[in-house]
Amino acid sequence: MIQTDFDVLIIGGGMVGASLACALGELSLDVGLIESIPFGATGQPSYDDRTTALSLGTRRIYEALGLWADLASSAEPIRQIHVSEQGRFGTSRMDAREQGADALGYVVENRMLGQVLSGRLRELPRLRMICPAKFLSLTTGDQAVEVRVQVDDAEQTLRAKLVIGADGANSQVRAALGIDTDVRDYGQTAIVSNVTPERNHGGMAYERFTPHGPIALLPMSEQRCALVWTQPTAQVEIVRQLPDAEFLAALNTAFGHRLGEFQRVGKRTSYPLQRVLSERLHAPHVLLIGNAAHSLHPVAGQGFNLGLRDVAMLAEVLADAGTDNCGSDAFIQRYLENRQADQSHVTQFTDGLVRLFSNRVPGLATFRHLGIIGLDLLPPLKARFTRRSMGMVGAPKLSRGIRLTPSPSGRGQG
Ligand SMILES: Cc1cc2nc3c(=O)[nH]c(=O)nc-3n(C[C@H](O)[C@H](O)[C@H](O)COP(=O)(O)OP(=O)(O)OC[C@H]3O[C@@H](n4cnc5c(N)ncnc54)[C@H](O)[C@@H]3O)c2cc1C
Repeated sequence: MIQTDFDVLIIGGGMVGASLACALGELSLDVGLIESIPFGATGQPSYDDRTTALSLGTRRIYEALGLWADLASSAEPIRQIHVSEQGRFGTSRMDAREQGADALGYVVENRMLGQVLSGRLRELPRLRMICPAKFLSLTTGDQAVEVRVQVDDAEQTLRAKLVIGADGANSQVRAALGIDTDVRDYGQTAIVSNVTPERNHGGMAYERFTPHGPIALLPMSEQRCALVWTQPTAQVEIVRQLPDAEFLAALNTAFGHRLGEFQRVGKRTSYPLQRVLSERLHAPHVLLIGNAAHSLHPVAGQGFNLGLRDVAMLAEVLADAGTDNCGSDAFIQRYLENRQADQSHVTQFTDGLVRLFSNRVPGLATFRHLGIIGLDLLPPLKARFTRRSMGMVGAPKLSRGIRLTPSPSGRGQG
């Protein structure tokens, strides 16, 4: 008989939803995972051509879940971060050694993350993977939620004590709950590609602010760098479609010559950039996490890392609550209280950075310049900034390397 009743039903098997399913695999819970596009299929929006900068905190979470060993061989360490502004001399550097760490973070290809996560999902005995299947609607009740999904041409009804909306920035779960969003369109689009510079990156990640938008270069294997080049949306297609030599020349002009000349560029893909914040993150027996809750500009490489801390805290609170209490109001409030500060800090920080460096108001350029230099000259400020970038602030148990165990009675405190 096909299982239709779950403790937890996760809608969306992207990087955040799949990571949650892996984390819950450690607990004694019946979990369902609904995903519309299979792992590895063309058009899968989470495990696509991008790379993601994982913070040290994220590494710790994956270590505690036993997933890091499979990611480590293809993860390129970020030893230093170099921040600069085009047309200005001041720069700031963050160095892992100043934090007593080996690396500030790691760069992984999203496809590789997909392979590792899907490999683990297949091994989890109490997980039912419902894929391809499309979430259609839900009805919240006193004790549980009923969820309608489309599997092939048929509709099915599933029930769960707790439903997690991890279905991305255009969340259908959020829409089904009638929750509004606060959308900020930055008028910017990111061109994502891999480039090969003349000189070895030496583990350095670069963030360069230009009048058109930030350029991020992340170290990758085989001397390559992952490029995220933000452009005003109105001109992005012109730049994206330039012949290779002209594209590389434009990039050299905007980025400068710290890595010598750029020599090769791969396939180029574009991503329109918006901040989408959900005005509420919950309904009875339902929580929104990851991009469904907060979709951010990638300027600071924080979106997924923030989503993974949602995952870690949710798993921690669920481990304490046990199966009977897993959708209770007390459980939901506990999760929200524990995530509020981190979510609001990262959201404001990222938005502030985009707006500060996109603004042409006279005088702000000097302010930015002083900010970049100040960061380098004031060690305590820089240390705090660096530790936040490393995902080491407001950290749940998993990101401190503590493994979760289910509450002994299976009826925890809720
Ligand atoms: C250019 C770029 C670079 C980035 N770089 C970084 C970085 O370096 N570091 C970082 O931390 N973050 C980065 N991010 C942010 C990061 O990509 C996101 O935070 C992350 O993808 C969010 O994952 P998610 O699982 O919440 O959502 P998504 O990746 O959108 O996944 C949602 C999943 O839900 C599924 N789904 C949707 N609707 C339904 C439905 N109705 N039924 C069933 N399934 C459904 C989708 O198929 C998808 O698999 C970057 C973002 C961009 C655009």
